[in-house]
Amino acid sequence: MKKTKFAGTLCVILLAFGPAIRVSQAQDLAPEVLHYADLVFYNGQVLTMDRDQPPFTVAQALAVRDGRILVVGNDERILRTAGPNTQRMNLEGRALMPGVIDTHAHLYEYAIYKHPREYQTILIRGLRQRGVRYVTVRWRVRETALADLQRAAEAASPGQWIYTMFTTDVNADMRRPETLLDFTRHDLDSVVPDNPIMVITGLVARTAIVNTKLLEIITGIYGEDIGGYERDDQGVLTGRLTGTIGGVVNAELFPLVPPELSAPMYKREMEEWVAIGVTTVSTRLAGNYITTYAYMDRHGQLPMRLAYSHEVGRLNPFMERYLRRFGGLQGHGTDRMWMIGISISGPDGDPPGAPHGRGGNNCTTLLKLKKIELDAYGLEGGCRWDEPGDPSAAAPAIASRFGYRISGVHNIGDKAVLLSLDAYEKANQEESIIGKRFAIDHGLMISQDNIKQAARLGVMWSLQPFMIYDLAPMMAEVWGEEVAQRWTMPTKSLIDGGVKPAYGADRWSDPRRQPMWNLEVLVTRLAANGKVYGPREKVDRATVLLMMTRWGSEYVLREQELGSLEPGKLADMIVLDKSPLDSSVPDEDLSEIKVVMTMIGGEVAYGSLD
Ligand SMILES: [Zn+2]
Repeated sequence: MKKTKFAGTLCVILLAFGPAIRVSQAQDLAPEVLHYADLVFYNGQVLTMDRDQPPFTVAQALAVRDGRILVVGNDERILRTAGPNTQRMNLEGRALMPGVIDTHAHLYEYAIYKHPREYQTILIRGLRQRGVRYVTVRWRVRETALADLQRAAEAASPGQWIYTMFTTDVNADMRRPETLLDFTRHDLDSVVPDNPIMVITGLVARTAIVNTKLLEIITGIYGEDIGGYERDDQGVLTGRLTGTIGGVVNAELFPLVPPELSAPMYKREMEEWVAIGVTTVSTRLAGNYITTYAYMDRHGQLPMRLAYSHEVGRLNPFMERYLRRFGGLQGHGTDRMWMIGISISGPDGDPPGAPHGRGGNNCTTLLKLKKIELDAYGLEGGCRWDEPGDPSAAAPAIASRFGYRISGVHNIGDKAVLLSLDAYEKANQEESIIGKRFAIDHGLMISQDNIKQAARLGVMWSLQPFMIYDLAPMMAEVWGEEVAQRWTMPTKSLIDGGVKPAYGADRWSDPRRQPMWNLEVLVTRLAANGKVYGPREKVDRATVLLMMTRWGSEYVLREQELGSLEPGKLADMIVLDKSPLDSSVPDEDLSEIKVVMTMIGGEVAYGSLD
């Protein structure tokens, strides 16, 4: 009450004394009242990405206030927003651009690949906390393996679950031991008859061997009609699980590691990405990883923004039931972490010559000219969605019915893309999906027909330039030179055909995960063998930068907040030592441009303001 009266009195005084009062007011403004910029960048090249197509505006300077961009303009204009406490960064001609949005990376998996021992220690501790017995097995020799398993069974309490992974083998080099190749539930039963046991046979837990005890639990819950159960010649279950049932068991029965155990490891990986100029990553995540990242978000431990496609649709024959209970959460989350769609199992697998080894089960309309080393599949390759019981093709229409789009899904061959687009088409027949940004990730082999259909459905694409660099020569070898030239990630054709591609590294090491290396690949289309693949598909630098920022913000459904340097948007920015638009930097030197500083929401996240 008193305050109101006082304000009234003040008003009268203000009217009477005018400017003199106003000056003294400015010196002790309440913190709620608008203030000067917190930070100004000047004397630089500010690549704003303020338009959807090049050319976009290149300004000199930019001001930040309260974690957002206040104004962009010339030095004189911007320096006028600076007050006594404003930080000033003289860019000295360097470039400032929006932080890169990487729309396809698997950060937790990279952390695991790079630090497998640390991960196993965490996993073992986590399982112990959940009351599961973990056993390290010497898999190289059958006898020692059986002896280790038997000892674990004898030490276990009645009914206690037992887990093991081959990678904790004391001599493991991360390659699957031969003893595991023909191991079945009967081998496990001979030493572990009474306790449920699961042997994880992949690096991450999607393929497994279980004993009869556990198999009975699994078939009791899920029945035997789901795909992925291996059977012997007589049609009897062997206890080896892959495909849908492997995915279901992994997602629903594998004990969850407490989030606080893995959080430090995941945080370190993210910090590495911040240092290379990436401020937002989009990835696909299963429940246990969402739990960990959400824990990190709540505790202020997420070094960057994380947009995720929920793997609830991955090999889930019950998805409709889940989504009904779940409700429509797409777009929901926090400033740091939010959901952008549903990820389902891709129509095909890794390409031949993929860095993981194996591969070649690609879904294409083309026959291979030859089978290359480590390719476990025939000349026709294969489509995962054709496997009996695979629920993926029906998933997009179901997701769409509950207000979701499909994103974060691996598609390599042209027929994989075709199957995905046909499934999207079915969703579209129920209710239009145009404008909903259903997505396709990768697209190593893209035909003109693919592009037309995608454009018609308003589909977005997440492209991984390393595939041009590393895989185009393999394409030539396996499917012929012409296919390699015309179909390997035809970026310009996609854009000209009306499809908006976003960018993603999908690699975990330098230089392949670095945005400037990827920029160079898309501009030059130079492959590892020194040859240019698809010269007509080269894209200019400004367009690639748009892919990496503005167009990426659409993929992650946050174009109102991210992707360009415009007033009101979040101050996610990077300083580069040279401008990627500088014509004195030759195309083949673009990868040498360095990230000097990364800022997320107005806070320095890497480097410094000096
Ligand atoms: Zn990937």
